[in-house]
Amino acid sequence: MANNDDQFKKVISHAKEYGYVFQSSEIYDGLSAVYDYAHNGVELKKNIRDYWWKAMVQMHENIVGIDASIFMHPTTWKASGHVDAFSDPLIDNKDSKKRYRADVLVEDYCAKIEAKIEKEVKKAAKRFGEAFNNDEFLNTNPRVLGYQEKIKTILSRLGKSLEKEDLADVKALIEELEIACPLSGSRNWTDVKQFNLMFGTKLGASAETAMDLYLRPETAQGIFVNFLNVQKTSRMKIPFGIAQTGKAFRNEIVARQFIFRMREFEQMEMQFFVKPGTQKEWYEQWKETRLKWHLSLGLGKDNYRFHDHEKLAHYADAAADIEFKFPFGFKELEGIHSRTDFDLKAHEEFSGKKLQYFDHEDNQSYVPYVVETSIGLDRMFLAVFSNALVEEELENNTTRTVLKLPAVLAPTKAAILPLVKKDGLPEVARQIIDDLKWDFNVIYDEKDAVGRRYRRQDANGTPFCITVDHDTLENQTVTIRHRDTMEQQRVNISDLKSIIKQEVDVKSWLMKM
Ligand code: ATP
Repeated sequence: MANNDDQFKKVISHAKEYGYVFQSSEIYDGLSAVYDYAHNGVELKKNIRDYWWKAMVQMHENIVGIDASIFMHPTTWKASGHVDAFSDPLIDNKDSKKRYRADVLVEDYCAKIEAKIEKEVKKAAKRFGEAFNNDEFLNTNPRVLGYQEKIKTILSRLGKSLEKEDLADVKALIEELEIACPLSGSRNWTDVKQFNLMFGTKLGASAETAMDLYLRPETAQGIFVNFLNVQKTSRMKIPFGIAQTGKAFRNEIVARQFIFRMREFEQMEMQFFVKPGTQKEWYEQWKETRLKWHLSLGLGKDNYRFHDHEKLAHYADAAADIEFKFPFGFKELEGIHSRTDFDLKAHEEFSGKKLQYFDHEDNQSYVPYVVETSIGLDRMFLAVFSNALVEEELENNTTRTVLKLPAVLAPTKAAILPLVKKDGLPEVARQIIDDLKWDFNVIYDEKDAVGRRYRRQDANGTPFCITVDHDTLENQTVTIRHRDTMEQQRVNISDLKSIIKQEVDVKSWLMKM
């Protein structure tokens, strides 16, 4: 079986080879942590976005959508706390001129000690053979215990220093551990500084009058500043939600892992406004609802887990992540945050405008509390895509590469294949396409033997292949082949639409929630 690194490499190369994701500006050697979606990728991304939008907006009477601008008045980011507190600790190496996240340097150092533990385990397992007991070895071997203690001490000091904003101690720790620049081997470090993750830009034609702006680092603030406008024009009563999908930008210092951590990415967020005091119930309810949404796609229950935050952001009174098992381990996919009245209150204070709701039942005004659900569209794409890519052993000792995307999300729903390029079969295939294309994304493929075309569509993630043969001309039937089971059925052309619809219809998938 491929190890996780190999599996992840396969995911990245398959995404490129089959037109899902390209490195941005590849002909110029790319731009770090920026990616483009290709002809299949753009469809998969759109289908994930639609699946989210339908579940959140269309299916909830009390949730409406908006599409706010990426640029916002700069005071927005003072009020939200991003100007002061949206940062990571960075350190530069004076010789190599390379920049690192100070916390990541220390964590990588610990990962090396972790690797030493693994080496000891392997050595011992070989020495003791069948008598080897992994847990006992880890709990008793003096060398291993020493390594574990060292990791604990280092990480606890790092955590405390970061919490206290004691950046001098973070640097002292790096020096004491004699951590060298991975590139140059040099230990000539600058001081540790906080680095704000927001991208700045300027609005205005002349240098003197230009206004400093930021590219939004999250979509949420576009919803908060519009809260009252939306509430009044939509005549929503609390509790109600506002949903939005759109680009966000973060100048991540260490951006690796393909589309998991990008500098330009897309979020799908929903802010749910509730009566103060009821936020805990709504928080629990949204955690459950969002997990059900994930499970409805059938990527496997065991691939999800909740991670409750112990250290809360300045605005939150409860927060949890839904983590997904990516090829590189369990990592955050979505956040559910109980944000209190922090944001609306801060915008009231900075703008001098009231952002309150008049509750007719209680006959009083208040600043609502907010429970938000926030998921990265690109991370969801990676979750779906990496989970779908499998190498399958077949009965005749061959293998096939198949992208088992949930049919509702697949870019192309069916490929129409004339068995041969003559005898009028292509014409019939075209007629089928002309009918089906009103309802589904379908493609025509006549190149190569039909078996190779099936494999190509398997790797492309297409749930159905429809083959037109000589019998079709006689009796108006075709063969429909199912991607996952490889089963083939003979069906009437007139039944194709309903057969496909049943499997790709959003309703039948969301009903599983
Ligand atoms: P992380 O801890 O991974 O940096 P975060 O806690 O900063 O993420 P949030 O601010 O809660 O993330 O953003 C909500 C969601 O947006 C995340 O759950 C994730 O899916 C997505 N997201 C955040 N940063 C990025 C990024 N750089 N690239 C892609 N998606 C991202």
